[in-house]
Amino acid sequence: MAEQNPLLYTKKNAFDQLTDSDLAAVHRYAEDYKKFLDAAKTEREAVRESIRLAELAGFKALSKSGAKLEPGAKVYRSLGGKALLLAIVGRKPISDGLLIAGAHIDSPRLDLKQQPLYEDSEMALFKTHYYGGIKKYQWVATPLALHGVVVKKDGTVVNISVGERDDEPTFIITDLLPHLGKDQEKKSLGEAFTGENLNILIGSRPTGAETDTSRFKLAILEILNEKYGISEEDFLSAELEAVPAGHARDIGFDRSLIAGYGHDDRSCAYAALRAIIEQAQRLTATVAAQPTTPLPKKRGRPPKSATIPPNVDLIPEKTLVAFLSDKEEIGSMGTTGALSAAFESFVSQLSGGLCGVAQAFEHSFCLSADVCNALDPNFPEVSEKNNAAKINYGVGILKHTGSRGKSGSSEAAAETVAKLRRAFSDGGVIWQMSELGKVDQGGGGTIAQYMANRNIETIDAGVPVLSMHAPWEVVSKVDCYMTFKGIRAIYESNI
Ligand code: MN
Ligand code: MN
Repeated sequence: MAEQNPLLYTKKNAFDQLTDSDLAAVHRYAEDYKKFLDAAKTEREAVRESIRLAELAGFKALSKSGAKLEPGAKVYRSLGGKALLLAIVGRKPISDGLLIAGAHIDSPRLDLKQQPLYEDSEMALFKTHYYGGIKKYQWVATPLALHGVVVKKDGTVVNISVGERDDEPTFIITDLLPHLGKDQEKKSLGEAFTGENLNILIGSRPTGAETDTSRFKLAILEILNEKYGISEEDFLSAELEAVPAGHARDIGFDRSLIAGYGHDDRSCAYAALRAIIEQAQRLTATVAAQPTTPLPKKRGRPPKSATIPPNVDLIPEKTLVAFLSDKEEIGSMGTTGALSAAFESFVSQLSGGLCGVAQAFEHSFCLSADVCNALDPNFPEVSEKNNAAKINYGVGILKHTGSRGKSGSSEAAAETVAKLRRAFSDGGVIWQMSELGKVDQGGGGTIAQYMANRNIETIDAGVPVLSMHAPWEVVSKVDCYMTFKGIRAIYESNI
């Protein structure tokens, strides 16, 4: 085939560029990512699993002592167990800037109301309040699992997860049979299912005598009390989330895609986590192999990676940060959202409070890693094909988000896009430009605007998704891997 005229730009499918060994790396990465998704179906579980993986790579909880951290220090701070900040302290002072990857770990779902339990028609149900932008009809007649915490009055936290294992029960929201759907079918999609009707069926076997009141509700409370030691009042201080039951699955005869709950935005959060963990492992792995720095010989177990001193030459120049934030789907507010001053507090803590955070931000770069919409052959009319992200074309760079006239977007500068092109090209990343649907079709936002408002140079890039915000979203394995490579490229760049 003739070479394309270099004056023309045409993006290419990753499968026309990748070698067999690249594809093996993609496959390995996808297997790890699916495990992460299964272990992290809520923001709390995502924090717990991320800390577990980070600690294996030597990250330690940041102490409150305020002591200055040495270059090469690997630290994390959990924000209330619902958001996570990780960092590797660089050789240069913090005031020289940070290389940041930001992604969110909350996903659309059905939260239980604070007084959720009731009975109706001799069945027990939970009232819900949906979280984030959902198409309500997608959440009925599909098995749901329940994840979250009940915090008792004395502060005891009871962790709950029911409906994921094959031997556990699941829950469901019932739908109307089509035979009697004459009136329902006349309604619009948005009107046919109301938020107040998303009630979850949780039981139907009564307790006590036929004449007892609330015996269907009470039967559920008896089970919950026996299993978790809670009573109805404890729901008042609970955070329980109904999410699709089941695990992430390969899609397609060729297994090139993954269906999973919460690709938005755990596909990017996992990419950021993996990228910072990889940088941490690089620091110590090389030292361990160096014969010139022998480690004290001890009998028994080999020393933990955390005790191995970092190789000074391999410590990154700038401090690397990964911010896995909460509440993105409802506006990034609060102590765990991307708007939280906890971010400033963390950065100042990294330098022992010595540096001006504002000065650090001014010299920082943030890749806001969030998913974008992929061109869908079933709905091509909402995209403009020259500018829409395509499945298997790599990580999608979004110069701007917003709606109508780019309203609500921080829009990255052309200079920033050029820097990213350079960094991605140096890092061997397959990438594409993307946009959030065709003009005037709708729109949305990410955490980019909140990072940019801190005076941090910020741009969006992430995994293209099919069926975004549906119970089961679809992504391509290649695109997930390229998002990881994209964040690696930022961490290894001098952007
Ligand atoms: Mn998102
Ligand atoms: Mn979203």
